[in-house]
Amino acid sequence: MSLIKKGIIASENIAIGKIKLMKKQEVKISSQKISDDEIKLHVDKFNKALNDYKTILSETKVDNDTQKQVIEAHLSMLDDPFLSESVISKINENFASDKALNDTIDEMVIMMQSLDNEYMRERASDYKDIGQQLLYKIKGIENQKLDSLEPNTILVSKELTPYETSIIDKDNVVGFLMDLGGKTAHTSIIAQTLGIACLVGMKDITENVKDSQTVIIDSYKGICIIDPDEETLLEYKNKKSELDDEKSRLEKNRYNKAITKDGRDIDVMTNIGNIEDLEKGLESGAEGVGLFRTEFLYMYNDNFPTEDEQFESYKKVVEILDGKSVIIRTLDIGGDKELPYYKFPKEDNPFLGWRALRFCFDMKDVFDAQIKAILRASAFGKIRIMLPMVISVEEIEKALEIIENNKDELRDKNIDFDENIEVGIMIETPASVIVAEDLIEYIDFFSIGTNDLTQYVLASDRGNDKISSLYNTYNPAVLRAIKKVIDVSHKHGKWTGMCGGFAGDTKATKLLLGMGLDEFSAPAASIPKIKDVIANNSFEEAKIYADEILQMKKTTDIERKISE
Ligand code: PEP
Ligand code: MG
Repeated sequence: MSLIKKGIIASENIAIGKIKLMKKQEVKISSQKISDDEIKLHVDKFNKALNDYKTILSETKVDNDTQKQVIEAHLSMLDDPFLSESVISKINENFASDKALNDTIDEMVIMMQSLDNEYMRERASDYKDIGQQLLYKIKGIENQKLDSLEPNTILVSKELTPYETSIIDKDNVVGFLMDLGGKTAHTSIIAQTLGIACLVGMKDITENVKDSQTVIIDSYKGICIIDPDEETLLEYKNKKSELDDEKSRLEKNRYNKAITKDGRDIDVMTNIGNIEDLEKGLESGAEGVGLFRTEFLYMYNDNFPTEDEQFESYKKVVEILDGKSVIIRTLDIGGDKELPYYKFPKEDNPFLGWRALRFCFDMKDVFDAQIKAILRASAFGKIRIMLPMVISVEEIEKALEIIENNKDELRDKNIDFDENIEVGIMIETPASVIVAEDLIEYIDFFSIGTNDLTQYVLASDRGNDKISSLYNTYNPAVLRAIKKVIDVSHKHGKWTGMCGGFAGDTKATKLLLGMGLDEFSAPAASIPKIKDVIANNSFEEAKIYADEILQMKKTTDIERKISE
């Protein structure tokens, strides 16, 4: 009998494979106290475990940026004196090393999970991960092998720790099914980057499967089918092969330019947070970068990155781009994104609070360092600057003044930069839509951040599952806001791109094309399809299609039309 289980869609694809169940080794924690004579032995045991794990991490062969970030984050957590001090002080109170470690990690995890921030909550899994690895070392337990898997493996686990995710044999894994986790969990991010099927939040999937069972994941529908019958298996094999054919057709055309049948040339770019995203984007046919989310440089660090560190990162991106352009967004921190080394004040409404430009204006040294780093890198390739979360002309004036002052400082020091560097803004607040006509005069381009724009226009939190049905960019209010912004930019001889998630929704490509969008910036996986839709439509036809949709009053009608 086959069994169908539902989960949260973390990465869309169809996968057919055999299950590899990751069982966490049960570790029995010592309940008995140790004697004073044993304290030294247990401190040594803990220190040895710590050093052994550090050595393993330092010697791990790193082949991608995500893996590098995980390893660096873990090494810096292991170096955090709080961890050692807390464990050793518990051992000094006669707790065995495993118990002392376990209690310390529990305290850290509880502290992280209590934070009102999805990103930081997910980082609790880094602490669990470190705790597990150190505990294994103390107890002499071997890790399950993940670096060489059978072809077509579907990994099933409670949740994969960041370390496990980083060492997985990515050539042979075709899908992930996880009891726990959200869309920003490491497993989800890896699955999205690799373009493989992934469902998370499946609650008890580990209890319902055995090793080597056949499973189908249809993460478009958010389901998996365990032990499918012959008919279903055949149906999905056909679907999968159609999907693969379509993918290879798209892949073949991915370096073609995105020009409509009637000759409108559209830029199709990629969004990046690190070099790995950039490489994936370029491999998928991106013509440049429409959004470089620089906050990751700050989040995966143990201090605000210096001007020189940032300069090196931006220069590296520009060099890889080799003549293609990049839009570097200035620091967009706050809201749901915190920093491990900087304590943000508690806010009742962080999304409406001290984030992005607001933070940068108050943290002037941090902002200056970033602006100088971007300007210096602009001497090496085509860079545009983009300001996030703008609500007013005053903010643009202030940011432009800061940019000008930094240019002056560089000129005084005879440091080269692009004198004509363009500055644009993200359109992600209702205010910026309403006063778009005023804002455009000060800047060179708009890029629409639909992730935030949707939540602010519809007053619907982008991360709140309870109202996820309200959070919908196809809502006419959001679509008309987008249209207005594009029209304003064109009226002033300027252009509008889109870097929010909607640009990567290929069901919306024809609509956005018809609305006049000039540039799409999307994750690597959507790029070939976006180009394909553009190349197979005429702008004139798309305009008629978009006009019809923009007349519609109900989201449901729009969605029906889109899926026709
Ligand atoms: C957006 O809001 O659409 C956007 C691209 O920015 P982020 O998702 O980083 O907030
Ligand atoms: Mg945003």
